[in-house]
Amino acid sequence: MTAGHLNCTVCPSCGAKLAAKDSRPHDAYGFATVRRRRVCDSCGYRVQTVEIPADVADDVFQEDAA
Ligand SMILES: [Zn+2]
Repeated sequence: MTAGHLNCTVCPSCGAKLAAKDSRPHDAYGFATVRRRRVCDSCGYRVQTVEIPADVADDVFQEDAA
């Protein structure tokens, strides 16, 4: 694995590459997002990612607002 390379398509459990099994529009938060379901072919670990617009993310994750 390459240090410093953040990749949400890699299995958190075993480090194998994850394939996206499903990708669908998702608007449960009041704005358009894309939800992806991924399953690790190596260990069976399942993850879901929700991709949200960057401007919305800036409002939601105000980690360095001080
Ligand atoms: Zn895995």
